[in-house]
Amino acid sequence: MYQAKAYSVASAASPFTSATIQRREATERDVQIEILFCGVCHSDLHTARDEWSSVMPTTYPCVPGHEIVGRVTRVGASVTKFKKDDLVGVGCMVDSDHTCPNCHDGFEQFCPGSTFTYNSPDKHLGGVTYGGYSESIVVDERFVLSVPVNLNLAGVAPLLCAGITTYSPIRRWGDLTGKKVGIVGLGGLGHMGVKFARAFGAHVVVFTTSPNKKEDAIRLGAHEVIISTNAEEMRAHAGTFNFILDTIAADHDINSYINMLGRDGNITLVGAPETPLQVSAFALLFGRKSLSGSLIGGIAETQEMLDFCAEHSITSDVEVIPIQKINEAYDRLLKSDVKYRFSIDMASLKAE
Ligand code: NAP
Ligand code: ZN
Repeated sequence: MYQAKAYSVASAASPFTSATIQRREATERDVQIEILFCGVCHSDLHTARDEWSSVMPTTYPCVPGHEIVGRVTRVGASVTKFKKDDLVGVGCMVDSDHTCPNCHDGFEQFCPGSTFTYNSPDKHLGGVTYGGYSESIVVDERFVLSVPVNLNLAGVAPLLCAGITTYSPIRRWGDLTGKKVGIVGLGGLGHMGVKFARAFGAHVVVFTTSPNKKEDAIRLGAHEVIISTNAEEMRAHAGTFNFILDTIAADHDINSYINMLGRDGNITLVGAPETPLQVSAFALLFGRKSLSGSLIGGIAETQEMLDFCAEHSITSDVEVIPIQKINEAYDRLLKSDVKYRFSIDMASLKAE
């Protein structure tokens, strides 16, 4: 074991403070990574503040962070995929049981034995896993991704969660060429959804509660923007969408978005509000519409997404912050005031 600098919260109501955590020494299959950048996902906030207590209660102290980009500092004797100094990424998972049908099919995110990057039982050290708000991490090579060298690293970090979470359902929907696709919420996930839907040939429409994001939405790739609080604008588009991706992090009226779908349209939830949403049966019945969910993506699909981003020069639009600004960043995340992802420069941790 060795000690690593990190930022943690001690309870749901505590701010982040500097901390020291234990990391395991790299075993045979492990890759030890010096973390260069870590994105700030709204799931980090939900977890740090125990907002998902009914489904996934938080164990404290908690070190979030699952949008990790770094450089390999050491590899175990049996590691074949990576070598010292390689640029790598780690997303929301660090292990799984490797034997179940989900793992077999490349859906490690649905493995009953999957280990999430933070707040999951730690098979090696006991306690829970600690995430990327730290200077280093040790991960089984099967959960380490190759990071394209041609992209801006601060902007690559958010691809490891916001990227794959939007890429996966958009790909799953099939050929989007000429289809009308809605992205609800222009935050970390939403702005990546816009980029991917556009790259796959859709007619992209952003639903936002923030009129000041209109110009950015167009710059990011949207063809149209709807201010969702404007009933007239909403009415004008009712019944016209093929597919909608809902990324809202808070309670909201899902029926107003189901009403935007045309016949056989689908709305997929990736946002994970802490309270259950009220769904009107009639909103779904008329038009044979469907409501689905989607959770990140498997490891092979995550690599596919990173390679797609390298080919199409896609990264997240980031505001780079030092770790010392993390409490302020959470306050701004709650006010939908981030353009469009905070990415922590982990060099700032060295000064602690
Ligand atoms: P984020 O950056 O905070 O973006 C969420 C956006 O939703 C905001 O920017 C805002 O966009 C909109 N919004 C916020 N509150 C709203 C409200 N009360 N009513 C209507 N719109 C509202 O968050 P994120 O990191 O993208 O994450 C979004 C959600 O996805 C979170 O719940 C997160 O936990 C979840 N998530 C799920 C997965 C998965 O695998 N399914 C993976 C990662 C994250 P506008 O200003 O444009 O309205
Ligand atoms: Zn996330």
